Amino acid sequence: MHAVTCLPWKKQVIISVRDLTKKYGEFEAVKQISFDVFRGEIFGLLGPNGAGKSTTLEIIETLREKTSGTVVVDGIDLDRSPNEIKKRIGVQLQTSGYYPNLNLTELLMLFGGLYNRDIKPMEFLGKVNLLDKAKSKYKVLSGGQKQRFSIATTLINQPKIIFLDEPTTGLDPQARRNLWELVQDIRTSGTTVIITTHYMDEAEVLCDRVAIMDSGKIIALDSPDQLIDRLVASGFERPKEVKKANLEDVFIQMTGKEWRED
Ligand code: ADP
Ligand code: MG
Repeated sequence: MHAVTCLPWKKQVIISVRDLTKKYGEFEAVKQISFDVFRGEIFGLLGPNGAGKSTTLEIIETLREKTSGTVVVDGIDLDRSPNEIKKRIGVQLQTSGYYPNLNLTELLMLFGGLYNRDIKPMEFLGKVNLLDKAKSKYKVLSGGQKQRFSIATTLINQPKIIFLDEPTTGLDPQARRNLWELVQDIRTSGTTVIITTHYMDEAEVLCDRVAIMDSGKIIALDSPDQLIDRLVASGFERPKEVKKANLEDVFIQMTGKEWRED
């Protein structure tokens, strides 16, 4: 027998979280959660507002102190070398409000400098379909364009993993679908993606696996398919006859897939 670990389908853990707890004062926002993220997957953290998604993400991103538990990213222990973790990940930077006089090209140069990378801004703008906005200021971009630009900033240090916290909140259906394609492209290029959302349709289309969080706990973790199959196997039936399309399909069919941004 050949070593099983060499087979391509063998999943490699790139993020391992064990018994992670976060308290804000007496309030426990994250309660002893454990999960793994596999290399190359799109992993979704789902849950209602206040579930603890952003807190969990920010702890892994080294931006927030944990109370207890262990986090290992790409083999690196968060407690030992947070800076080594920072080098390997892409975090959405808050671009709004800063440097209002710089255009997108100049902002990317600036961020490249922060990461000590000599980057070609046009290459990054091309990746996120913003070449025609190279000389525009961030503030004039549409919601979808702003999100795409901030995703471009996550890619500057050629990260192994990027973190996207509700990247599609507030976007119209076209911009949302356009962003899904971008996220899929990023994954295809070999980057692992962790994304939070409270849109279930989005998670179903985009995520290989999802963890559902509620009140600081992970209450389910599997592929969307498996979670749905298990629910159906338990005897669940939709109250209404299942239609072959939904209202969003109608909307997209009638208004077209192209995103419009003025
Ligand atoms: P989500 O991203 O799932 O909406 P968060 O991680 O932002 O959830 O928040 C989880 C809980 O922790 C919420 O009840 C929120 O009010 C609380 N919380 C978040 N940040 C802080 C903070 N800095 N201080 C106190 N409570 C916080
Ligand atoms: Mg949040």
